[in-house]
Amino acid sequence: MSPETQVAEKGLIGAIEAGGTKFNCALADMRGNVLAQAAFPTLSPEVTLAAVKDFFDTGLHQLQGHFAAIGIASFGPVELNRSAASYGFITKTPKAGWSNTDVRGYFRAAFDVPVAFETDVNGAAWGELVAGAARECSNFIYVTVGTGIGAGIVVNGKLLQGVTHPEVGHMLMPRASLQDDYEGCCPFHKGCLEGLASGTAINKRWGINGKDLPDDHAAWDYQAHYLATMCVNLTQCFAPEKIILGGGVMDKKLLFPLIRHKFLELINGYAPEAILARVDQFIVPTGLAGQAGIVGAIALAQEELKR
Ligand code: ZN
Repeated sequence: MSPETQVAEKGLIGAIEAGGTKFNCALADMRGNVLAQAAFPTLSPEVTLAAVKDFFDTGLHQLQGHFAAIGIASFGPVELNRSAASYGFITKTPKAGWSNTDVRGYFRAAFDVPVAFETDVNGAAWGELVAGAARECSNFIYVTVGTGIGAGIVVNGKLLQGVTHPEVGHMLMPRASLQDDYEGCCPFHKGCLEGLASGTAINKRWGINGKDLPDDHAAWDYQAHYLATMCVNLTQCFAPEKIILGGGVMDKKLLFPLIRHKFLELINGYAPEAILARVDQFIVPTGLAGQAGIVGAIALAQEELKR
């Protein structure tokens, strides 16, 4: 039997990492091996969703395959409640033109297969669990620090979901321990984490992109302070085995030792020795270097087939 025939008989997985800047897409076999990959800019929903559908149509034709399932890890806010009428929608988003977009429904209608739908950070967290820095973990947190800040929280092997998905980026930061009167750039809160420490905040506050800031700039001490505070809060609330920090801002590798140092200072010994003695294995970078979202979307599609 030729490899093409095996693919056709077993079906294919479609994966979409839907971001506010671009949609990363992949076609994979049932084992999760990526067979084709492309990215499309996030323009209007009509244009971008059609571009993704075209990529899938072309790929399915070339591979002579059919979809078994699709996985989507999307920017948000999104509706994840499966019993809600708006399940699978991007809901009220500041991204122009995308509020109330039925992303999951679009691909359900186009391909008539099971479609898994999660937040972008939940997708990336799932990718870390399956193939990245969180293998061997049942309880961990993946945080992305980029244009915004968000987290996927895995508890006992499952993504944490309450009334909605967690919004770690909007935890309020205590200000007393740091002389900082900047109120942040979040339109909803004064002094929330995203407003103070996201890539957007760095840009607005210092007038320069984070990647262009010199290593000795004061901005990195503020970043370390706020992100370490977040790590302390997450550690005390969720008792994770690991906190993974990804996203564009974390490409600045000098942040990791700064955050770990500040974390130990702020937690002040009040944590298990397993964390305190091995903080370099507790606060860690992504194990998938930019691929966590796609790997996670593939794995979520595989999970959807088991439901
Ligand atoms: Zn906020």
